Amino acid sequence: MEELKKMPKSLYGMKPNEILGALGLSRAYQGKQVYQWLVRCVAGFEEMTDLPKALREEFASAMPSLTSSNVIDEQTDSSGATKLGIELHDGAIVECVLLTDKENRKTACLSSQVGCAMGCTFCRTGTMGLIRNLQAFEIIEQFVHLRRIAPDTSHIVFMGMGEPMANFAEVIQAITYLHDPDGFDIGLRRITISTSGVIPGILKLAELNLPVKLAVSLVTADNRQRTEIMPVNKAYPLDELKKALLRYQHVVGKRFTLEYVMLHDQNTDGPSAKKLANFIRGLDVMVNLIPWNPAAELPWETPGRREIDSFTRELDLLGVPYTRRFSRGRGVNGACGQLAVELKACDTNL
Ligand code: SAH
Ligand code: SF4
Repeated sequence: MEELKKMPKSLYGMKPNEILGALGLSRAYQGKQVYQWLVRCVAGFEEMTDLPKALREEFASAMPSLTSSNVIDEQTDSSGATKLGIELHDGAIVECVLLTDKENRKTACLSSQVGCAMGCTFCRTGTMGLIRNLQAFEIIEQFVHLRRIAPDTSHIVFMGMGEPMANFAEVIQAITYLHDPDGFDIGLRRITISTSGVIPGILKLAELNLPVKLAVSLVTADNRQRTEIMPVNKAYPLDELKKALLRYQHVVGKRFTLEYVMLHDQNTDGPSAKKLANFIRGLDVMVNLIPWNPAAELPWETPGRREIDSFTRELDLLGVPYTRRFSRGRGVNGACGQLAVELKACDTNL
């Protein structure tokens, strides 16, 4: 029993020498061995066949699960998107999604928080409020659960529940771990952080000069309308957001994405297109057009095909570069902004 008390909640997020210390291993190489097994996402110590049998058994009984979290729900829809419900050590629940694109590239859409404080009116997660931040190991474990289903998952987007910039340190720690060339070895350009426009986070990312991809949920380039739809715009209005993005661009020098969730009769007309064209002037961006994914309790509608076509025609005329995103995961409520856990107290893209 004494051993049990000493065991950490999770070995994920630890470097080999930290694992060595946490498990009280005597041989330096064993820390690395365990680390490698963790990267292979094995289910338990029993599978770590290069550890002495007695150690394996001792650790397996002290720590039956290598993760602090458990998959409690798994659903797959017709687009092949799989959504997992993950129960954390304190009973809180987050969701993550595995998305497969046409080229069979697999992307893990991870959550950074339980719920979200930003309150965007078009987003289901926004209706939950913030329950708590996730720790780095809890972010990493979502990836582990998805890798157990699809070992070839190669890309990561922080587009699940939560605002990654509001949990900056833990998100960066998780990214650093997942990037380790001796570990999961996920290239930084295969990792996207999506933000609702939290300026201090964008500036910190620029300062770190960490070449992950940046996506910003713009939704509308009309400042007044944005404040109504996204309360975050009160603290970080569009003109300041643009300044921060110019700064980011100057330092990092990489193209970034603006996520534009299209809401029927709200942000898809000619003037909206012009404001968008005006906002992106001077920015090296790709606009990602996402038809709003419906959520029954929210007061918006999805634009029809003709509405979207007429909006893209306007964008063509104005020379705005855009892509139209096909919403995968809708069938499992695993598409962007559909992630919300049905709890008393208490999203995705390619
Ligand atoms: N908090 C971050 C990341 C999570 S939201 C952010 O806001 O960027 C992930 C993406 O889902 C964002 O691009 C957001 O704009 C989009 N989104 C949220 N709700 C949506 C909905 N109902 N339909 C389509 N996209 C939605
Ligand atoms: Fe939070 Fe992003 Fe949803 Fe806004 S869109 S409520 S920031 S998760």
